Amino acid sequence: MIIGIECTAHTFGVGIVNKGKILSNIRDMYTTESGGIVPVESAKHHREIAEKIYCAALDEARIEEKEIDAIALSNAPGLSPCLLAGLEFAQLKARKLEIPIVPVNHCVAHLEIGQSIGAKDPVLLYASGANTQIIAYASGKYRVFGETLDIGIGNFIDKFARYIGIGFPGGPKIEEKAKTGKYVEMPYSIKGMDVSFSGMQTKLQQLRDKGISIEDLSYSLQENAFSMLVEAAERALAHTGKRELVIGGGVGCNARLQDMCKIMCEDRGAKFFCPSKQLLVDNAAMIAFTGEIMFNSGIRKNYKEVEIKPRERTDDVEVIWK
Ligand code: AMP
Ligand code: MG
Repeated sequence: MIIGIECTAHTFGVGIVNKGKILSNIRDMYTTESGGIVPVESAKHHREIAEKIYCAALDEARIEEKEIDAIALSNAPGLSPCLLAGLEFAQLKARKLEIPIVPVNHCVAHLEIGQSIGAKDPVLLYASGANTQIIAYASGKYRVFGETLDIGIGNFIDKFARYIGIGFPGGPKIEEKAKTGKYVEMPYSIKGMDVSFSGMQTKLQQLRDKGISIEDLSYSLQENAFSMLVEAAERALAHTGKRELVIGGGVGCNARLQDMCKIMCEDRGAKFFCPSKQLLVDNAAMIAFTGEIMFNSGIRKNYKEVEIKPRERTDDVEVIWK
């Protein structure tokens, strides 16, 4: 029985997994009226809500504390104050229950959770607020094949949404607006498997100032930015010879992006795996799921030895469980 804790950014979650089965997945998100995340405020949120979320996760899984074998903690990468809040909570429980901690890289967990829906050796298109990466396992490590050279896709969408005054989070609202829009030319920037969004950002703002409709801009943003992501993902599939694509991150909730992934995969005889919304967004079930795999291969630490690693890269992770 593994209990997972997610704490890297805006979400605090607790999830419970036993033999690959998700028994509970409870989460709460720190939100702001305007502007982005204030790290110390988000950490404060995590501290305030931790015990409540923890108890709710145990309740939903119908288990007792003493049944837990280890705590999987998202110790990397993320915002230091948030990671610290999660670490302190995990240490408190680990000490009390006399159980070890399994440190889990958040990005790797987005990939590993693909296994819960049948993926075996996929390429991950990780499209979230702060992160945009194409990740896959190769030669003993999870490697970043491509990534954004400026901001994350979600932050890019949210920034545009703020510019046109439709609030946060912008993604779902832009998706709605896009339904009745038509295409206007956008800068398409992809270099190898890396993408960048700043050119589009400028263009979108200029066109908005010229009076182009929000619907047309939303549609064009989605078609253009998502095509770039799907092209990079396809290139990674071609390069690695893998035949499975998993999507992860909050932007992965977008139906048009999912559709494009599906079409691309069908075209090249690959399988597309789309986790449920609960597992796409930041969540603790994926941390517990990954933690269980790691635990079963012998990875565990005394609570005193665990550290946060705010800047750990996906390919810094030593993968001994594959
Ligand atoms: P995450 O960082 O993984 O929690 O994802 C948060 C990001 O996902 C925010 O930038 C949201 O705007 C974005 N998002 C959520 N739902 C959608 C959607 N339906 N379409 C596009 N972006 C979305
Ligand atoms: Mg995430």
